Amino acid sequence: MKRPFTFFICTLLFFGCSQQEKSFVQKRYEDVDDYMKARNRLIQAELAMRIDAGITLTPEEEEEANRRLMALKQEEIERTREYFPPAHSFLKSKTRQLINQSPILEIMKRMPKGGILHAHGSVAMGDRYWLIEQATYLPNCYIYQGEEEPPRRGTLRICEEPPGGEWFLISDLRKAADDTQKFDDRLYQSVTLGEEDLDLPDIWTEFRKCFARSFGMFSDKEIWSGFCRKMLRDLVEENIQYIETRGGLGGQKIIEEFQRDHPEFKVKYIYSASRSLSQEKMAESLDQALDERAADPDLVIGFDLMDEEDKMNTNLYFINDLLEARHKAEQRSITLPLYIHSGESNWMENENVLDAILLDAKRIGHGITLFKHPLLMQIVKDREIAIEVCPISNQVLGYVADLRNHPAVLYINSGVPVVICPDDPGIWKSTLSHDFYAAFMAWGLDLKCLKKLAMNSLIYSAMDHEEKERALEFWREKWVKFIAWLNKYMV
Ligand SMILES: [Zn+2]
Repeated sequence: MKRPFTFFICTLLFFGCSQQEKSFVQKRYEDVDDYMKARNRLIQAELAMRIDAGITLTPEEEEEANRRLMALKQEEIERTREYFPPAHSFLKSKTRQLINQSPILEIMKRMPKGGILHAHGSVAMGDRYWLIEQATYLPNCYIYQGEEEPPRRGTLRICEEPPGGEWFLISDLRKAADDTQKFDDRLYQSVTLGEEDLDLPDIWTEFRKCFARSFGMFSDKEIWSGFCRKMLRDLVEENIQYIETRGGLGGQKIIEEFQRDHPEFKVKYIYSASRSLSQEKMAESLDQALDERAADPDLVIGFDLMDEEDKMNTNLYFINDLLEARHKAEQRSITLPLYIHSGESNWMENENVLDAILLDAKRIGHGITLFKHPLLMQIVKDREIAIEVCPISNQVLGYVADLRNHPAVLYINSGVPVVICPDDPGIWKSTLSHDFYAAFMAWGLDLKCLKKLAMNSLIYSAMDHEEKERALEFWREKWVKFIAWLNKYMV
């Protein structure tokens, strides 16, 4: 009975609001001053609907920092008037260059961003330039140059014994190359997405190939642990203190070792399975997830279905397995919360968000299609289901060409909980700061909204109450320092 009643109240509020909105429009304005007052009332009423409505900036430090930040934003708009980076593909070198030179990016880097709630482990997040520099300089790193699939041309691999066939030693090929830098750049290109991939008919296929070409280098223990350690260091340098990951980060030993230097840094896992699986395999994955969750519910927080929604199985296709898993969880007196990719699509026919809501998802990955469904959006808002918005990912994989038109603007402005996430930044050579740059520049945000977005990444995490309090306390200390820095910056 609770929900229908809540919905009834919301409908009333909405109706009340619409009535109030009418009063903004006056039949007669005394003068321009009177008109401007009405105009301002309307602007304020809209702002009161935004996700950051409950946040107040401190009148001295934060308000001053906001003034400086907004002035810098204006300068950035002027600097990029001819070529506004969020309006162009992040894969274009020019876009990345312009963002990388921007003082706004530096600010986004320094800003304590809280946690990352949507990313696919070290493989998708780590620095692939480091990988090429380290792994391909080992004396036993090979590349496949045959035509078979798999292993697929260009696949890299480290192994003790020469694999034979059409596998060649990288060191030999590098020696024979005219230009070593160009040779290495090509290797880097083969495991990342960039300008060279812009005109491909199917970017998802190339995206998958970037992973496939690199897996064979991670089988080397030293490379894998070095890659993961570097990634963890980079996260902390980016002022990220927490992560809920869908893929491995190198194992508990590496994380514990890292936590000795960074005791505040915490990690949790979302068990994720590909939508390409058969129903039987999905049932097995769900059983495995239940076992892992039962063994360590603090560490394994739930389940996700990932991979390309437009070409693979829907949430509904697995409904039998998902309901069965809920039943099994109940019998074991545990839960298996869903943090589910849904609505990463431009198709109206994609109904994954609808099923994610019915299945009581804790958060929704991407949720691009949500804006087409006003009732679903209202339910998501009422139930405080956070949308894991990944701006650059959505642009790179072809869902939103110009980020000024990303549906997240609607979610943020209408109070739907949003968290900003990087998805697979190692593949498109970005960091979470680049996503924040795009969001800040393209969605009309200010310091208040940035503060709320950073806080949301801890508030909508799976941490328990005490963990959240501690994490928010740590975040607040860093935030105060960030504001002080911002107030000294560019006087
Ligand atoms: Zn994802």
